[in-house]
Amino acid sequence: KRVEVQVAEHRIDPDLLDDRAVKVVQTLADAGFEAYIVGGAVRDLLLGMRPKDFDVATNATPEQVKSLFRRAFIIGRRFRIVHVVYGRGREHEVIEVSTFRALLGSESAEQVSGNEKTSKAELAGKSHVVDAEGRVLRDNVWGPQIEDAARRDFTVNAMYYDPQRQLVVDYHGGLGDARKKVLRIIGDAETRYREDPVRIIRAVRFAAKLGFELEPKTRKPIQSMADLLANVPASRLFDEMIKLLQTGHSLASLAQLKKLGLARGIFPILDAMLTPEGDLHEGQRGQFVRLAFEDTDRRVAEGRGVSPSFMLACMLWHEVSERWARLREAGEAPVPALSQAIDAVFDARIGDISGRGKLATDMREIWMMQPRFERRSGNGVYTLVEQARYRAGFDFLRLRADVGEIEPALADWWEDFALGSEEEREALLEQAR
Ligand code: ATP
Ligand code: MG
Repeated sequence: KRVEVQVAEHRIDPDLLDDRAVKVVQTLADAGFEAYIVGGAVRDLLLGMRPKDFDVATNATPEQVKSLFRRAFIIGRRFRIVHVVYGRGREHEVIEVSTFRALLGSESAEQVSGNEKTSKAELAGKSHVVDAEGRVLRDNVWGPQIEDAARRDFTVNAMYYDPQRQLVVDYHGGLGDARKKVLRIIGDAETRYREDPVRIIRAVRFAAKLGFELEPKTRKPIQSMADLLANVPASRLFDEMIKLLQTGHSLASLAQLKKLGLARGIFPILDAMLTPEGDLHEGQRGQFVRLAFEDTDRRVAEGRGVSPSFMLACMLWHEVSERWARLREAGEAPVPALSQAIDAVFDARIGDISGRGKLATDMREIWMMQPRFERRSGNGVYTLVEQARYRAGFDFLRLRADVGEIEPALADWWEDFALGSEEEREALLEQAR
């Protein structure tokens, strides 16, 4: 049931559109293809929010898409899409273009054992593959728009918007659900979570971000199927956790996880941070994380950048500082003790997730700056404030002061020093002697 919704009803404000996304759609349409803005962007537009990124769906193949744009790259193996890139450096913008996918039952898929060791050879040349649990490992069979809509996750994520005709195409009642603030999975919930258990986490994220209720059938199998998340590659799960916590509704996301029985046993980092009941700890320990999360949410609301490394450094700080204290008590010097504590926590909670090198380096830097703040003399003071990541290290220090872990005067001193003129700095050094 393809429903075309006109502007009088959907009332999407064209000012919220992104020029580049519109241009991508136009270019594809001029070349004779069907093309629409799709997914989360349409959902956000309907809710009157400015989407943070735009996806385009088309019946052109990745190769055809690539040939139409100057800077376009085919990426992904599990799910091949094209990145159309505009601008450079900080200003650059990526429009993701995906080809309409066919709706295929797992019967028609080629089945492989599908653990993380599944060999590339086993997958080579196959375009639709599931593992023994029914998890989709590859989804690259093209099909018509109606099937593309049916294989999207939630009704509110399965609408298409044609900016030229100002038309919303809705196959699954997404518009009605958006108006009612209901998150409803498309098709049979159990089957859909089995195909891709990450949809469970996506449900949590959208409920928290949009303030939607989970429709009962969407909600019911979640807790019993959460074990399937163990089959998802650790790096994808890690990325989903970061997204969940950086939607601008991190505390709401935690509350939603708890409500669905997912707060513990899924993300090792949350296990490190929450009580067995899935709450933040009482007192200073929980307050530290709460303040960090509130600050992150505030930054998102103000459209400022948020860094996963800062947030993660906050989430794991208690464990790091506990181990650090124990090693010092055992007679280790402070700096090597901290370094060893960090290694141990990385091993226990992050593992060897490939491609996370930069993140880990940044977290380590934030933590390793902390003992250096204790010393307010010598040249170290100057090299510290000039360090590239000084600001993150200082924000972390400030947070520690805010919860009473250290003297607020120490954070004040560093703030004054960092902002001070040369004379003011000398006076501060004199005062600290
Ligand atoms: P956000 O606002 O966080 O970007 P989004 O809905 O745009 O949310 P994306 O991950 O950007 O989420 O995905 C774009 C669209 O692709 C979704 O709206 C949905 O239609 C589809 N999609 C993404 N991930 C899945 C999935 N795991 N299963 C089914 N459909 C998915
Ligand atoms: Mg998106």
